[in-house]
Amino acid sequence: MENLGLCEAKRPQRNEVRTEHVMAVYLDYNASAPIDERVLERMIEVYRFHYGNADSRTHIFGTEAKEIVSEARRTIANILSVDSTDVFFTSGATESNNMAILGLLDHALESGRNHFITTSIEHKSVLEAMKYLQKKGCVVDFVSPDTSGRIKPEQILSLVTEKTLLVSMMHVNSETGIIQPIEEVGEVLSKTKTYFHIDATQGFGKLNESLRRTKYNMLSITAHKLGGPQGIGAFVLRRDRTYRRPPVKQLMYGGQQERGYRPGTTPVALVAGFALAAELCDKEASQHMEACRKIKNDFLSAIEGLKYSLNGDQAYCLPTTVNISFHGVDAEGIFLALKNDYAFSNGSACNSGSHAPSYALTAMGLNENRISEAVRISWVHNTQADFTPLTIYVRSISE
Ligand code: PLP
Repeated sequence: MENLGLCEAKRPQRNEVRTEHVMAVYLDYNASAPIDERVLERMIEVYRFHYGNADSRTHIFGTEAKEIVSEARRTIANILSVDSTDVFFTSGATESNNMAILGLLDHALESGRNHFITTSIEHKSVLEAMKYLQKKGCVVDFVSPDTSGRIKPEQILSLVTEKTLLVSMMHVNSETGIIQPIEEVGEVLSKTKTYFHIDATQGFGKLNESLRRTKYNMLSITAHKLGGPQGIGAFVLRRDRTYRRPPVKQLMYGGQQERGYRPGTTPVALVAGFALAAELCDKEASQHMEACRKIKNDFLSAIEGLKYSLNGDQAYCLPTTVNISFHGVDAEGIFLALKNDYAFSNGSACNSGSHAPSYALTAMGLNENRISEAVRISWVHNTQADFTPLTIYVRSISE
């Protein structure tokens, strides 16, 4: 095996997912989570034995593959309490978000209902798609939260007019872990002509009950935040009472897969892995959340006595995430000094490549110091982390 720069002793064994690199503990689950071993085994089985093209209808390899895909579609649909014909597999939430937003462009231009509403703390795949709509002549309102990190439903609802075609809002913010009021917004919008899209990337698998209760027309989810593989997700496009779907147009051409909405050979093993990961999370979510709450309490006990601010109203924060600013301690310094101890980040991975201040924290109105001090730490139920090196470092800088 090629040496990947890992210590021999730390090299992962077969059937063991690596959550440590040299000594660093992985604490960046909101960016991507390691694959669940049970999911990996299932995917290997599919790659090994069910390699047919799910659209080959002339032989058993194709029909078997198709059945795996159909079963996976039913699993995702059952978890979300939607019809299985409403679930379309995509490459992930970025693609699903683009489908929801850009897919409505033609209709917006043709109908004159060209007003869109979103928030300024969305993932870039929503923000940049919305900016593209603006260039095409649509009107987009970007709503910002206050320092709580939570959008107030009335901030969105007061902007809705006859011309509003879509409201797109995230379920849980990836940087702060703050849960957004999708249920309240969905309830009101369901009585209007405005479509409601939710980017449920960070909430799916953790807050499924809330997703099942919420009224929406479109939803984006991805596998790699919940122990599934990278490169697979789903777009949910629901029919209304009259069996009509929102007038979303496909973004790509080239085949009838996913009923023409998303052409391209279906990645059967990824789809099977996604469904199993989602099923396991759905069954295990409440124990997982309980364990995460304990980790959060342990973390808060470990940092007792240090000067810090938690970013976002903790009453609405998922127990898997902490966004924290240690007073007087620059986050970049923490990453550098503790790179062998922890793998955590300064926000969403799509932004952490740059040194630009976090746009989500900026939108919340936090001051420059607080933003440059902000560290996002995210974990799962079985994370084992000793926070002593962090506390020693923070104390040494702030003294
Ligand atoms: N939306 C949110 C809220 C996210 O956190 C992410 C991933 O970081 C995405 C969308 C993009 O998901 P994917 O990596 O599946 O394209």
